[in-house]
Amino acid sequence: MADPMTRIPVAEQDPKVRATNFEEVCLGYSKEEAMEEATRCLKCKNPQCRQGCPVSIDIPGFISKLQEGDIKEAYFTISKYSALPAVCGRVCPQESQCEAKCVRGIKGDAISIGKLERFVADWARENNVKPVAADEKNGKKVAVIGSGPAGLTCAGDLAKLGYDVTIFEALHKAGGVLSYGIPEFRLPKNTVVASEIENVRALGVKIETNVIIGKSTTIDELMDEEGFDAVFIGSGAGLPRFMGIPGENANGVFSANEYLTRSNLMKAFDDSYATPIVAGKKVAVVGGGNVAMDAARTALRLGAEVHIVYRRGEEELPARVEEVHHAKEEGIIFNLLTNPTEILVGEDGCVTGMKCVEMELGEPDESGRRSPVVKEGSDFVLDVDTVIMSLGTSPNPLISSTTKGLETNRRKCIVAEDNGATTKDGVFAGGDAVTGAATVILAMGAGKTAAQAIDEYLQGK
Ligand SMILES: Cc1cc2nc3c(=O)[nH]c(=O)nc-3n(C[C@H](O)[C@H](O)[C@H](O)COP(=O)(O)OP(=O)(O)OC[C@H]3O[C@@H](n4cnc5c(N)ncnc54)[C@H](O)[C@@H]3O)c2cc1C
Ligand code: SF4
Repeated sequence: MADPMTRIPVAEQDPKVRATNFEEVCLGYSKEEAMEEATRCLKCKNPQCRQGCPVSIDIPGFISKLQEGDIKEAYFTISKYSALPAVCGRVCPQESQCEAKCVRGIKGDAISIGKLERFVADWARENNVKPVAADEKNGKKVAVIGSGPAGLTCAGDLAKLGYDVTIFEALHKAGGVLSYGIPEFRLPKNTVVASEIENVRALGVKIETNVIIGKSTTIDELMDEEGFDAVFIGSGAGLPRFMGIPGENANGVFSANEYLTRSNLMKAFDDSYATPIVAGKKVAVVGGGNVAMDAARTALRLGAEVHIVYRRGEEELPARVEEVHHAKEEGIIFNLLTNPTEILVGEDGCVTGMKCVEMELGEPDESGRRSPVVKEGSDFVLDVDTVIMSLGTSPNPLISSTTKGLETNRRKCIVAEDNGATTKDGVFAGGDAVTGAATVILAMGAGKTAAQAIDEYLQGK
């Protein structure tokens, strides 16, 4: 029996090998490892881990089923709360949520809740175990806009309650950021993402792709002409921001969203696809969040030398610690306390370098983080031929500008109450479209809350 204070380590691909392929970095627990890790859980009466989970998964409940060896029941326990457990087990920031609150973490290592969730969900997929659909339909129709985590969760929960749900998705493939943003080496598309979307379909949800609400049809038309009794907007925050510095329009400057979409959704990394991508020999990724790490690690796998350029220090990096650690192991170079001031452009219109200044940290700003201040006379040129801007995103204004009575705030986010109700009767919203860019589990939590509110709203009609 292993030391109960120490977490069972999880196998990963060797950094040197994985830096040259797009296969998954983390290999997950075997059944024996998962069972052994599960035995460390104290099955607390007042489980703090559960309070740290935005969708309140019954964590001791599923882990105790795992301890008994009943993996099927462990899966049914999780799927009461989450439609996407294999996704969340891979990409949720557990270290700052459930695992941060686990009492085992006070004197030893917190239980590896995310890796156990992943194990259970993968086992269910491999053994063809599916969540249970509603017996009867109630005759009411709900439209869901967007097939990301918010839309899929809201749609799945409403279908379980008997609603006739149709998801309208602008792209040719469902999944939102799970399909077009997060790279294959962190979240495999054809197995993990596709199968969790199939599970939502198996609950009776219809998914219509290539339908842009605001262009193909509008919310008012869905409600007035197509018989939908309520609408949920889960359209995300896919509009990239740029710095506004000279040279940003040069050939070889991308938004992280475009770069990742070419690679993930349109499979540019795979030679059998025709999608073009500028791999670059020396690439600068500007930004320090998860999206920046994903873009950097994608460029590295396409063969480039890659620099992360971030204006604050290591402690302020907003990306998950695990992602920064993996990026460093793979050989990404971190230019911290560095800020670009101009992208240098050759006569052919292509990037030839990036002018930067060094920064130092001053007083804390309104976010509580120390604000970066330019070091006088520290200008230098970073020798790069490709620049990927990863400075955050905001919601696309298409839906708000084509829907009467739907209010947005100054950040272009849809205004919604805590239960998702917007300023338009019968229309609810949640996820990144309301909060701005956030996390998978927060989007799922918002989809869940809105499903309950839509049910209450339609029961009262
Ligand atoms: C590269 C990257 C890496 C990330 N890594 C992590 C991570 O490791 N962990 C984590 O928790 N979070 C991560 N996130 C954030 C997380 O993915 C998002 O917070 C989450 O996907 C938001 O879910 P959503 O359902 O609100 O929106 P989205 O996932 O953005 O889905 C919105 C969907 O709506 C569709 N849509 C938009 N407009 C319309 C329209 N007019 N008509 C029809 N459909 C429309 C879009 O095409 C899209 O499919 C990452 C984000 C990115 C970009
Ligand atoms: S807090 Fe930790 S030990 Fe307690 S039930 Fe949750 S996972 Fe198990």
